[in-house]
Amino acid sequence: MFSEFALHERLLKAVAELKFVEPTPVQAAAIPLALQGRDLRVTAQTGSGKTAAFVLPILNRLIGPAKIRVSIKTLILLPTRELAQQTLKEVERFSQFTFIKAGLITGGEDFKVQAAMLRKVPDILIGTPGRMIEQLNAGNLDLKEVEVLVLDEADRMLDMGFADDVQRLVEECPNRQQTMLFSATTGGSGLREMVAKVLKNPEHLQLNAVSQLNETTRQQIITADHNQHKEQIVNWLLANETYQKAIIFTNTRAMADRIYGRLVAQEYKAFVLHGEKDQKDRKLAIDRLKQGGVKILVATDVAARGLDVDGLDLVINFDMPRSGDEYVHRIGRTGRAGNDGLAISLICHGDWNLMSSIERYLKQSFERRTIKEVKGTYGGPKKVKASGKAVGVKKKKTDAKGDKKKVAAKTANKRKTTNRPKAEAPSLVSKDGMAPLKRRKPEAPAAE
Ligand code: AMP
Repeated sequence: MFSEFALHERLLKAVAELKFVEPTPVQAAAIPLALQGRDLRVTAQTGSGKTAAFVLPILNRLIGPAKIRVSIKTLILLPTRELAQQTLKEVERFSQFTFIKAGLITGGEDFKVQAAMLRKVPDILIGTPGRMIEQLNAGNLDLKEVEVLVLDEADRMLDMGFADDVQRLVEECPNRQQTMLFSATTGGSGLREMVAKVLKNPEHLQLNAVSQLNETTRQQIITADHNQHKEQIVNWLLANETYQKAIIFTNTRAMADRIYGRLVAQEYKAFVLHGEKDQKDRKLAIDRLKQGGVKILVATDVAARGLDVDGLDLVINFDMPRSGDEYVHRIGRTGRAGNDGLAISLICHGDWNLMSSIERYLKQSFERRTIKEVKGTYGGPKKVKASGKAVGVKKKKTDAKGDKKKVAAKTANKRKTTNRPKAEAPSLVSKDGMAPLKRRKPEAPAAE
């Protein structure tokens, strides 16, 4: 029960108003320690309720009578605009019975309007690192009195190239008394370095191994012959599955646009979200999806990061994500706060080994599903190794006896085959679930 936490009654009233009854595991573990002022390093997946886990203790610290604000007391940094907007909403919902004010600084919004907001000095400032630095450089931002610093989705901030910006912003908060770092994954050496630099004697709460996905989400694969066949399967799923809202993930902007075009042509109410879309489009897409005017979103990873939409219960991976962690992030869009979800990955011949690497990384086996109305010819590799990967077709040893012509032809053939992509493509997923080899150029993060 939330009432067991030493939280101010005005916060408990807001919690009750939001109909939160039981704290989630990350809230149960983090809130008491955060209330004591401890530095925290928390590994918890998206959808676990981690926002409330840091927002409630922060509000508890700031709560008091209405007063003239003289300095920003809390800074919350996040990797994307959408995530920052969602966090602001969460702060506003929890602080509705208090005098605490929060402000938002992200790219894609009017710089001067933000500067005016900063002059009013919010208690809590939420935003993305790039625009924060710009406001700082313009002399509009003073973080010297920040007491609590939160780095949310820190692993993703590093992935998106914000390491230097984050470091600079951390240095701008020399008087901070508490720092909390959240990440969905255990991260790599970059994250370890950041943890060592930024946190003082932190409590490490590992709420989920990355392999523990939302238990309420079923995970399936459907094999496909090629992209056109995948499109047929998507059509079938959208027409026949029971869902409230669906998200279709692609690895490229071009594919997202293509699928979106097909859906619109079939009079589906859909939106497309990728890094090339401007802020207005992104906001509109998310608002319409939240309100239910639009049921289907086609998106790339960058655009969909941190998206929290109620009733999103179907995720379709048109393209398989390039790493196990990315898979977890995508699937984290559904099955939130205990709701049921369904995640379906469409697997062509070239996707198989990546899919099986992700299964191994997650220590899970996805359910194989066949839809007879749209069944193709490819049903997975003929033979699989113990690892689950396809067994490559071995070439027979050639008998080069005598005939010089035959030998020459065979040698030429051999050269050709070695140039061709091998039946068993190298794994794109390393032990830590990251993709060391990138086949296609990933979408660049949207500029913040
Ligand atoms: P988060 O992981 O912070 O993005 O939260 C995911 C979703 O779960 C958000 O919509 C929260 O409002 C919701 N949520 C968080 N904590 C609880 C709770 N204790 N009970 C019910 N819903 C919650």
